[in-house]
Amino acid sequence: MDLRIENIPEEDMQEIQRTVFMSTLEQIKAWSRSNSLWPMTFGLACCAIEMMQASNAHYDLERFGTFYRNSPRQSDVMIVSGTVTKKMAPILRRLYDQMPEPKWVIAMGSCATAGGPYVKSYSVVKGVDQIVPVDVYIPGCPPNPAALIYGINKLKEKIRYEAKTGKKVI
Ligand code: SF4
Repeated sequence: MDLRIENIPEEDMQEIQRTVFMSTLEQIKAWSRSNSLWPMTFGLACCAIEMMQASNAHYDLERFGTFYRNSPRQSDVMIVSGTVTKKMAPILRRLYDQMPEPKWVIAMGSCATAGGPYVKSYSVVKGVDQIVPVDVYIPGCPPNPAALIYGINKLKEKIRYEAKTGKKVI
């Protein structure tokens, strides 16, 4: 950003540009939010075991400022890990609606993304994006905890990019 101000000598201008940090309030909020994501875990099947492993001592998800919460009212990210059945779909949607704005969704694993191995089953939803808007898809059956951490970091990038550009990334 050009900070040129009248009657300020060039060397002082250079010092100002080197030391003054310019941003918008939205960008600062996005930066803060992205570094303190609190996911509501929605473990539905085998992928949930990998999601739980992400917060153990080996993978240490908390080092990225990400803490699992048990209440939708304290959460800003829903991690859907597992097979979404048609019976579970309205409950998932209700919990999503109880989360405060802004909120995001991660579809973890091929079941949550597109039905996975149960894609031909009459009782399985063919992707959680038919119920809630999904921001990040993580492929795999199951994806390992490192893949989940990668997906969470991609979501952080998305949050910051959208605040910076004002464009919604789909
Ligand atoms: S994607 Fe694979 S590992 Fe994950 S819930 Fe479905 S069947 Fe289980």
